[in-house]
Amino acid sequence: MVRVAITGINGRMGTMVTDIVLAQPDMELVAGFDLAEGRQVGPIKVSSVKDIDKVLKAVRPDVLIDFTMPAAAVSNVKAAASNGVRPVVGTTGFDEAQKREMADAIKKGNVAAIISPNFSVGVQVFLKLLAEAAGGLEGCDIEIIEAHHNKKKDAPSGTALKAAEVISGALKEKPQLVYGREGVVPRGREIGIHAVRGGDIVGDHTVLFACDGERIEIKHQAHSRSAFASGAVKAARWIVAQKPGLYSMSDMVKQ
Ligand code: NAP
Repeated sequence: MVRVAITGINGRMGTMVTDIVLAQPDMELVAGFDLAEGRQVGPIKVSSVKDIDKVLKAVRPDVLIDFTMPAAAVSNVKAAASNGVRPVVGTTGFDEAQKREMADAIKKGNVAAIISPNFSVGVQVFLKLLAEAAGGLEGCDIEIIEAHHNKKKDAPSGTALKAAEVISGALKEKPQLVYGREGVVPRGREIGIHAVRGGDIVGDHTVLFACDGERIEIKHQAHSRSAFASGAVKAARWIVAQKPGLYSMSDMVKQ
C-alpha cells in the first residue's frame, strides 16, 4: 500500500487528486492538509497545515502530493523531506530561490521527489514536439500563448515557462523571454509569452513558429483537470520506487 498525504486537499486539484487516490486499490489516504481543517474526506479529517509536522510524524505517509501555492509548497516540501516523506509537487509559480530551497530540503532529507508544472502525459509529448520543431526552425519567430481559467493566480503558467526552457535548449542562438508587449516594441531575438485568463478554461498552450511565408502551430489543450490529477497519482506511485533525488515528469515518462 502506498500511504498518501495531500496538501491543498480542499482546492480544485486537491479534491480531484483525492477522488483518484481513494479509488486506487494500492493506495491509502492517510492525511490531508489545508488552511481550513475539519472536513471529512474518505477515512480522514482534513488537518490544519499548521499541524503538518506533528501529523506527518504520527501517520508516516510514503508520499505527500502538493497542489497549493508557491510559498506554501516550499514549507510543505520542507516538512515532508525532514520526515522522510517523498514530495510530489504540482504547484506552479516558484521563483529561483524557492526552487533552490526545495531542492536543498530534498537533498538534506535524502528523499526522492518529483516536481512538475504539468503532470499530464500529453504535455510531455507536446514538449518533445517543441524541441524537435525548434531545432528545425532556427531563425523563425516564436510565440507562446497560454490560456487558463479566471481563478489561476500565477502567470505565465509553469507549463509555458517549461515550453520556453525546452525551446531555448534546442536553439543555437538563445532568445530573450518577453512577457506581453505594449507600446513601441520592435521584435528581437526573443520568445514572446502571452497569458490569457478567462472562464473555466482548464489549460491551453499554443506555440507558434512564424517563419517567412509559412508558420507552424503546436497546441496542447487539457479538457479536464483529471489529466493532471491522474498524472500526479501515477507520479506518487512511481516516486516510491525511486532512489533519493529530484526528478521531473520526463524522467518518469522515459522509463
Ligand atoms: P486552488 O483551488 O486555489 O487550491 C489550492 C488549495 O491550497 C486551496 O484549498 C488553498 O486554501 C490551499 N492552501 C493555501 N495555502 C496552503 C498551505 N499553506 N497549506 C495547505 N493548503 C494551502 O488551486 P488549484 O487550481 O488546485 O491549483 C493549485 C496549484 O496547482 C496552482 O499552483 C496551479 O497552478 C497548480 N496546477 C498544477 C498542475 C500540474 O499538472 N502540475 C495542474 C493544475 C494546477 P485557500 O483556498 O483557503 O487559500
